[in-house]
Amino acid sequence: MTTIGIIPGDGIGPEITEAAIQVLRAAAPGLTYEYLPVGHVAAAGSGDPLPDQVMDRLRELGVVLKAPLEAPKGTGRIVKLRPDGHRVYPSINNAVRRELELYANVRPVHAVPGVGRPGAELDLMLVREVSEGIYSGIEHRIGDVAQAIKIATRPAWERIARFSFELARERGYDRVLLGHKANVLNLTDGLELEVVRTIAADYPDVELQDMMVDALGQAIVRGDVPRSVVLLDNQYGDILSDVAAAVIGSVGLGPGANYGADVAVFEACHGAAPDIAGTGKANPVGLILSGAMLLRHLGDHRAAEAVEAAVRLVLGERRALTPDLGGSATTGDVTAQVVAALDEVDEAVAVRA
Ligand code: NAD
Repeated sequence: MTTIGIIPGDGIGPEITEAAIQVLRAAAPGLTYEYLPVGHVAAAGSGDPLPDQVMDRLRELGVVLKAPLEAPKGTGRIVKLRPDGHRVYPSINNAVRRELELYANVRPVHAVPGVGRPGAELDLMLVREVSEGIYSGIEHRIGDVAQAIKIATRPAWERIARFSFELARERGYDRVLLGHKANVLNLTDGLELEVVRTIAADYPDVELQDMMVDALGQAIVRGDVPRSVVLLDNQYGDILSDVAAAVIGSVGLGPGANYGADVAVFEACHGAAPDIAGTGKANPVGLILSGAMLLRHLGDHRAAEAVEAAVRLVLGERRALTPDLGGSATTGDVTAQVVAALDEVDEAVAVRA
């Protein structure tokens, strides 16, 4: 029996975690769940937001469903003591990814007809490099002067480029589209472009395109980016994945997965939304679809497809929409509708399987 590590998160985290687990229980009854405290909850007990025994257990389990964790503005730095010294991370979410050595954050953007901006028919797999970039957290401030250093290394970009081309092959995309700003950041983004071009030579069946990230942002908002795996650095990926999710309807729709060599963490692309915590307004779809990515990672393609099809049915037929999508349904209503729709889609998925 497979056990999934659960980080229930802050703000709307516990509500959407409950929703996602309810759908997972219905779609794949054989899984068990183990709640593990990270962030404020852990710090309140032990003083450490990333307790060693919790991080070791997450590594041991290898598959984790994570809700968003709050990171205070300007003061959210995490210092993790290790036997070989200490590491400083700019935020708790960055710390979880880097402590677990996750490097590829995949955020699918699949428009559902009838939801989101008319004409925004995006079908993208955003791949965000999350082990380095400007979010490495190397900052200095002396009085009124502050600096941040952007890190780009050849090994990390070879790894993320290969990951992106492999993902394109696996999921049937014939293009990798790199977003960068090599016309300004000549050395950092320039290195990224150079490395991705080199790796592309090993994948003649997948086309490589590149675009300035600002032009790419425009194209995403217009909804006319061709079907692609879109490769972005840590910060560009952070920003454009929220933008893309909003274009197809709401940031609450965006799922995600973070992959490393040994651990995979599944989390929605949005944050903890403290403004709507406890109101029942949280859209659970981003985390429910992250659960579908988790099922696919476990090899249960049929259950993954069933969850995705159930969500498409509920949204496409407007059976239950939370307020961010213009409806008045609660988190619980959407969850119940997705669970009910699993029975309807199960047959269709079984026929295709
Ligand atoms: P946010 O994504 O939490 O919220 C932005 C807006 O989107 C808010 O109006 C919110 O109500 C809405 N929203 C977000 N998710 C929604 C959902 N599922 N359903 C309906 N509406 C939703 O971004 P923020 O306000 O900048 O951040 C809040 C906190 O979350 C901060 O502490 C931030 O550091 C943290 N955060 C965590 C992660 C993560 O855990 N990976 C990611 C981003 C932000």
